[in-house]
Amino acid sequence: MKNCGQFREMFEAYALGALDPAERAALEAHLGTGCADCAKSVEEARWLVSQLAYMSPEATPSDMLKGRLMQTVRAEAHAVKRPAPSRSVIPFWMWAGVAALFLFSAYSAWNAQRLQQEIYSANQRAAAILQERRDLEAQLQLAKRAAMIVTDPASVKIALASQDPQSPAIEAKWHSQLGIVLTGQKIPAPSGNRVLQLWLIPKTPGGRPIPSLSLRPDADGKFVLLVANPPELMAATKALAITEEPEGGSAQPTTTPRWVGGVS
Ligand SMILES: [Zn+2]
Repeated sequence: MKNCGQFREMFEAYALGALDPAERAALEAHLGTGCADCAKSVEEARWLVSQLAYMSPEATPSDMLKGRLMQTVRAEAHAVKRPAPSRSVIPFWMWAGVAALFLFSAYSAWNAQRLQQEIYSANQRAAAILQERRDLEAQLQLAKRAAMIVTDPASVKIALASQDPQSPAIEAKWHSQLGIVLTGQKIPAPSGNRVLQLWLIPKTPGGRPIPSLSLRPDADGKFVLLVANPPELMAATKALAITEEPEGGSAQPTTTPRWVGGVS
């Protein structure tokens, strides 16, 4: 009476040397009786185990091997596999190191660029503030200069009368060193973008009007114009005249003067 059935699941474990001593003794006793079927099964199991050693654990046909046999095969296959030459020449940890280094460099570059941008924009802001301060100082200097011209008794007062009796006069004060200040009130603004331009009429007979600065009165018709560097000396100037000109002013008058005042 053969009881081969009880050994059916022991052959592979036996081939691996993974059986309990009692189970192994029982199987060997059975094989000792000369059972050809079981001897053949053991041969096949040994062949299978020898093949499994070269398989990756994932490829193991799990339905053929169960329980501790499975674990043993995995351990065996792993143990055999380990000394085999690695597929990748560069080990994983080195790739990780390279990746980390790359990320760090990229971060550093990004950080440096951001820092550079911050420095740049900080410089821009500082430059803008400095420029604003310079502009304010320049305006302050001009305002001071205008105030000195207007208040200095040495300045010559010139009333520029309008051709139109309804239009208010424009006043000029000319300081021989500091320049001319032109002030007006309730002066109607020229149409469109046109401007009021100041001209110096030279004493030289036949001399052409010398162009000076131009202006537009504000909404209330007020203006204060400082001509810090008049294009002609007071002594050589016969009169001041104001014409209406296109935006930006003209090289020579294109309209008849609306205000004229003699320099005494
Ligand atoms: Zn048997």
